Amino acid sequence: MGTVLAKKTIRNFRESLHGELIIPGDEGYDRGRRVWNGMIDRYPAMIAYCGDVDDVIKSVDFAHTHGLLTAVRSGGHNVAGNSVCDGGIVIDLSRMKRIEVNAASRIARAQAGLTWGEFDRATQTFGLATTGGIVSRTGIAGLTLGGGIGWLMRKFGVTCDNLLSAEIITAGGQRMTASAVENQDLFWGVRGGGGNFGIVTEFQYRLHQVGPVLAGTVYYPAAKTREILRFYRDYISAVPDELTTMFVYMATSHAPSLYRLLRDRPVAAIHVCYAGPLEAGEKILKPLRDFGPPLEDAVRIMPYVELQSMLDSGAPPGLQNYWKSSYLKGLSDEAIEVLAGYSEAITSPLSQVHLQHLEGAVRRVSEDDMAFSYRDASCVLNIVTKWEDPRESEKHIQWTRDFEAAMRPFSTGGVYVNFLGEEGEDRVKAAYGPAKYGRLVTLKNRYDPTNFFQLNQNIKPAGTGAF
Ligand SMILES: Cc1cc2nc3c(=O)[nH]c(=O)nc-3n(C[C@H](O)[C@H](O)[C@H](O)COP(=O)(O)OP(=O)(O)OC[C@H]3O[C@@H](n4cnc5c(N)ncnc54)[C@H](O)[C@@H]3O)c2cc1C
Repeated sequence: MGTVLAKKTIRNFRESLHGELIIPGDEGYDRGRRVWNGMIDRYPAMIAYCGDVDDVIKSVDFAHTHGLLTAVRSGGHNVAGNSVCDGGIVIDLSRMKRIEVNAASRIARAQAGLTWGEFDRATQTFGLATTGGIVSRTGIAGLTLGGGIGWLMRKFGVTCDNLLSAEIITAGGQRMTASAVENQDLFWGVRGGGGNFGIVTEFQYRLHQVGPVLAGTVYYPAAKTREILRFYRDYISAVPDELTTMFVYMATSHAPSLYRLLRDRPVAAIHVCYAGPLEAGEKILKPLRDFGPPLEDAVRIMPYVELQSMLDSGAPPGLQNYWKSSYLKGLSDEAIEVLAGYSEAITSPLSQVHLQHLEGAVRRVSEDDMAFSYRDASCVLNIVTKWEDPRESEKHIQWTRDFEAAMRPFSTGGVYVNFLGEEGEDRVKAAYGPAKYGRLVTLKNRYDPTNFFQLNQNIKPAGTGAF
């Protein structure tokens, strides 16, 4: 937005904050306007690094008063780039990192600026954890508000299944609690509906006992992708909820030992996390570790926090990133053929194809309980396309689009909202299905009728031209 603010107005706002205000020309501006996806290159008029809840309320008020386009940022990992804007204000919560763990009641109160690495380190001090993201630098906020899939989901549900309450600043600058007993409609909406209804300053999570896990990666020759996928389909159909797995086709392997063997060549892999009695885990994982035989078996007992950063090196910030995702009904032979064919035609050495197995506790929560959707899906497919040189964009984007289109016959028609790029209104609707989308619009009308929070996978309030 083209609002030009007087220097005095900015100075007064800056002085009123306990945190920091950065504007163009300030040291740290260029770093501050960057997000994880290097494709996103925006220039906000200001970045308000909030120090506390008061700062968040003041920032919302300031944005209202001056008609500023508003982006909300916590971990900055959103691939669509919704947490930064051109010309408006970024309300940044990344410095709000307080966490209190009550080991006796197994509850964590966590401020929105924490990453999963920080959250896990704090809860694992007490041998506790909840389902979180699989890369430790991802923010707890965006991930929780969209659902949250990760290594513990088949045992304990998705992240928002473990959300007990959220402290929210609404578009009107009001402070509210959403929980099973307070503002239940809002609680329904924030568990999957993203940042549409307000800024969450603090989450309260249910924790679980999580000891060392039997986890890691089994690598197989890429030439056997079809065989491996058929084995994987049969194998996951009978595994207990303690085991969460993910098939990955990697254009190049990140494992140092494999690098010598396979330098610059693709590899198929299955990442695993068994969060249960370790002896039982060894037996359950045996068929997977024997199959093939694998090129390398890098599964071992490890602390949960180690597993939680195991994939960090494959997700560095700053690369060009274009993702396409969909929920799959299952893995038919036809789906496997398409998956393998497109994987083999992968266009960038940095790209990966992810297939995360759901079911288990994810499926046991009723579809109506919250905005998070498609609990009947078997897997999430995520085509994670990455490259360095922006001049190559067309080729990589085209491969990703063609791949996703070819997989449509095998999709539930739904998509996981946290893996969406900037894909338009129909895809946002597809993330919830028509009935839930309608309920979300009702909520949006109630809590944000002017669409103040519009930089997200946007639920458009009725009357804004969406219908
Ligand atoms: C490397 C990588 C790994 C990932 N792994 C997983 C995974 O394992 N599981 C999974 O489920 N997802 C995963 N994701 C997707 C992730 O859930 C989303 O990118 C999510 O938006 C990240 O949250 P964030 O706080 O880091 O992002 P941000 O970019 O800071 O925020 C994303 C959006 O969330 C909203 N938002 C952020 N903070 C707040 C707040 N405090 N209050 C209200 N709204 C807010 C805003 O609309 C914002 O645009 C991954 C993403 C990346 C890049």
